[in-house]
Amino acid sequence: MDIVETIAAISTPVSSEGGIGIIRLSGPEAIAVADGIYKGKNKLCDVETHTVNYGHIFDDDEMIDEVMVSVFRAPKSYTREDVVEISCHGSIFLLRKVLSVVIKNGARPAEPGEFTKRAFLNGRIDLSEAGSVMDLISSENELALKNSLMHLSGALKNKIKKLREEILSDTARIESALDDPEHYDISDFSSVLYNSLNSRISELNELIDSSNDGAIIRDGIATVILGRPNVGKSSLFNLLVSREAAIVTNIPGTTRDVVEEKISFGDFSLRLMDTAGIRHTEDMVEKIGVSRALSLIDYASLIIYVVDGSIPLDDDDMEIMEKVRDKTVIVLLNKSDLSQVVSENEIREIFNNMSTNSDDVMERKSIISFSNIDMTGFSLLKDEISRLFFNKDVKNTDRLLITNERQKYELIEAAGSLKRVLESIDNGMPEDLYTVDLMAAYESLGAIIGEDISDDLVDKIFADFCMGK
Ligand code: GDP
Repeated sequence: MDIVETIAAISTPVSSEGGIGIIRLSGPEAIAVADGIYKGKNKLCDVETHTVNYGHIFDDDEMIDEVMVSVFRAPKSYTREDVVEISCHGSIFLLRKVLSVVIKNGARPAEPGEFTKRAFLNGRIDLSEAGSVMDLISSENELALKNSLMHLSGALKNKIKKLREEILSDTARIESALDDPEHYDISDFSSVLYNSLNSRISELNELIDSSNDGAIIRDGIATVILGRPNVGKSSLFNLLVSREAAIVTNIPGTTRDVVEEKISFGDFSLRLMDTAGIRHTEDMVEKIGVSRALSLIDYASLIIYVVDGSIPLDDDDMEIMEKVRDKTVIVLLNKSDLSQVVSENEIREIFNNMSTNSDDVMERKSIISFSNIDMTGFSLLKDEISRLFFNKDVKNTDRLLITNERQKYELIEAAGSLKRVLESIDNGMPEDLYTVDLMAAYESLGAIIGEDISDDLVDKIFADFCMGK
C-alpha cells in the first residue's frame, strides 16, 4: 500500500493541561511541513536524524511558541516514515493552534491509531504488538503493564509464528506425498500428526484459558461489597477509593443504589461496587436497591462481605452467607476498634455447616478482622485478594495472557480447525481433507499477527486506538 500523505495529531492527552504537549507528524513531507513553520539555528531538513532542536513555531509572521523539535528519519522511527515531534508548552489551546498551523502547511489530521497502523503497514510491528501498544497506553496496574510489555516484545508473535511454521510443514509433507507418492511415504504420518496436533491444541487451549486471567488484569476484579445496613460498607468503599465517593451516615439504608469505581491496588485493579445494605424493608426504593445488590452476586468475581463485629449476627446475615456460599468471599469483621461479639470461628462454623462431602465452602473464603477507623486489616485485605486470585500463575511467573477478544476468537477458531483434523484421522478420511483444516488453522493464526487479513479489518482494529497514537 502506498502511503503518500503526511499525518499530524496531538499525541499527548487533550483532556487536561500538562507541562508540555507533543504534536507528532509522520510521512514523506513531515520534515518539510515542520520546516515551513519552524525557525531555529538550522533548517530541520539539514539536521541529523534522532536529534532534538531548539527553535520557535510561527503562524506566518506571528510567533506562537518556543519549542523543542525531535527529528527521526525513515526508517528508524515509530512508523518507519520520517517523523517529527514538536514539544510545545502544554496548553490545550496552544497545542490546537500549533496543530492547525501544521495542517495549514500540508499535513492532514491523523485518524485514531493511524501512527501505529502505519508502523504495522510498514512492517515495523505485527498486529499482536500493535494491539499491545493500545493495552500499554491503557494499563492501570503492574500486571497489565507487565503483560502488555511482554506482548510488545513479541512473545505472542513468536509463539504464533512457531505454531504456523509447524502447521505449514505438516501440510507440505502431506501435499508432497499426494503429489509424488513414489518418493514420499506418509503411511505412518497420521499417528505422528495425531500426536503433534494434540500438543498444538493444548498450547492453543492454554492461551485461550489465559484470557480469563487476562480479562481480570485488564478490566479489574469485579468486586461487590455486601452486608447489612450500617456495618461500614460505604466507609470501606471510600477508604479504598480514597475519597468520599459514597455517602456515609449512621442512618441505616443510606446507600440505595450501586456505586461503582475502578481502583488500582498496585499490582492489580478492582472494579469496586458499593451496594445498598441488605435487610428486609418495606421502603420501595430501598427494596429495589437490595434486590440489585443481591443480583450482583452472580456477576461478581469477589464478594467483600462486611459484618459489624460489635453487634450479633442476625437472619439477614444468614441469608447473605447462604447466597454467597459458592463465591470467592472475603469476610471483613469490621469495627474491630470496638469490643467484639462476633468471632472468626462463628463465621467459619456457619460456612462449614453449609459444606457438603464433595465441596468445602471455606476453600475460597477468607476472614479478616478489620476497622475503617484505624485501618486494621487493610494490608491483609490486599494480600488476601492477591492470594485468592493470583497465587498460582499471574503474579509470579512470566505466563503470557491473552487480553484481546479478537485474538481469543482466532485462537478458538484455530483450535477448532485442528480438532477437525483429529476427527478426520479418527474417521479414516483421505489425507487431502486434512490439509483444508490445517490451512484454516494457519489462516486463523495468521490473523492474530496480521497476515492474511483484510484492509477493512485493519481499519476497524486501528480505529479503536486513541488519537495521536
Ligand atoms: P453502610 O451502611 O454499611 O454503608 O455503613 P457506613 O459506611 O455508612 O457506616 C455506618 C456507620 O458506622 C457510620 O457512622 C460510620 O462512621 C461507622 N463505621 C464504619 N466503619 C467503622 C469502623 O471500622 N469502626 C467504627 N467504630 N465505626 C465505623
